[in-house]
Amino acid sequence: MKAAIVTKDHRVEIKDKELRPLRSGEAKVDVEFCGVCHTDLHVKNGDYGDKTGVTLGHEGIGIVSEVADDVKSLKIGDRVSIAWFFEGCGRCEYCINGKETLCREVKNAGYTVDGAMAEECIVTADYAVKVPEGLDSAAASSVTCAGVTTYKAIKESKIKPGQWIAIYGLGGLGNLALQYAKNVFNAKVVAIDINDKQLAFAEESGADLLINPSKENAEEIMQEKIGGAHAAVVTAVAKQAFNSAVDCVRAGGTVVAVGLPPEAMDLSIPRLVLDGIEIIGSLVGTREDLREAFAFAAEGLVVPKVQKRPIEDVNAIFDEMQAGKFEGRMVIDMDINH
Ligand SMILES: [Zn+2]
Ligand SMILES: [Zn+2]
Repeated sequence: MKAAIVTKDHRVEIKDKELRPLRSGEAKVDVEFCGVCHTDLHVKNGDYGDKTGVTLGHEGIGIVSEVADDVKSLKIGDRVSIAWFFEGCGRCEYCINGKETLCREVKNAGYTVDGAMAEECIVTADYAVKVPEGLDSAAASSVTCAGVTTYKAIKESKIKPGQWIAIYGLGGLGNLALQYAKNVFNAKVVAIDINDKQLAFAEESGADLLINPSKENAEEIMQEKIGGAHAAVVTAVAKQAFNSAVDCVRAGGTVVAVGLPPEAMDLSIPRLVLDGIEIIGSLVGTREDLREAFAFAAEGLVVPKVQKRPIEDVNAIFDEMQAGKFEGRMVIDMDINH
């Protein structure tokens, strides 16, 4: 079967790869779609260590075609997801406290184990979350990573209906954050991006206030117009956005970090202490978070914008991604052939 495999020179090769036989607790999945993520770009480039030979992909959706004898949670024909959080140990304090993505023995699809950018892949049955009916598989692939990541971040912000939430960065992640914030949490949204095109798209998706920080002072506008946001979610990958987020919230506000710029942020300790600001890092989501994120998308409250491409386009997609050329998400359709 065809698989997108990382090569030594940091490219991706579409090669024939044979899947090993299933072990206890595992299932085989016929992949329908797999989204392409910035994280895949980092894995392929060796930014998280050399990953030569691994099959990429952690935004997979497919149909179960075979299960090991002892599997009870899945059956042939089930539609499931293959997510970055591929498997936890199931025993540690994080796994039993609802924080399984922090498990120190975590396995990640398309990184520690072979992922879903292939015609077929193997999953740990108990960790493959089922996709509800009524949700298109291509859209579901986007929810598997970008959707659950932003849904979880908004949950972590503890925003309440009618309150203001500032979203920094309105690309693929930020647009989904905006939709979850507005349509699921009933919050009012401030969209902040240096790209006017992304802001226009945010406005179409229902943003209540738009700010381009390359032309105006985001913190001042938010403090003056709305008394400061109740919370901020930062999906942008610029340090300035993190600094601005701390200054845009009101006293008692929460800042949730999702984007991963390599630098440190500037943080005024008096601001943190005297104004009781809370800063939280949020990493993807648990299986339960993904179930919830899927359910809201299946209700039509959140609609990911995806573009389907054949697997042979994978290197072109990474080149376009690196050049910042597209909005929304690119999804590999395993049924399209050149
Ligand atoms: Zn991803
Ligand atoms: Zn664990």
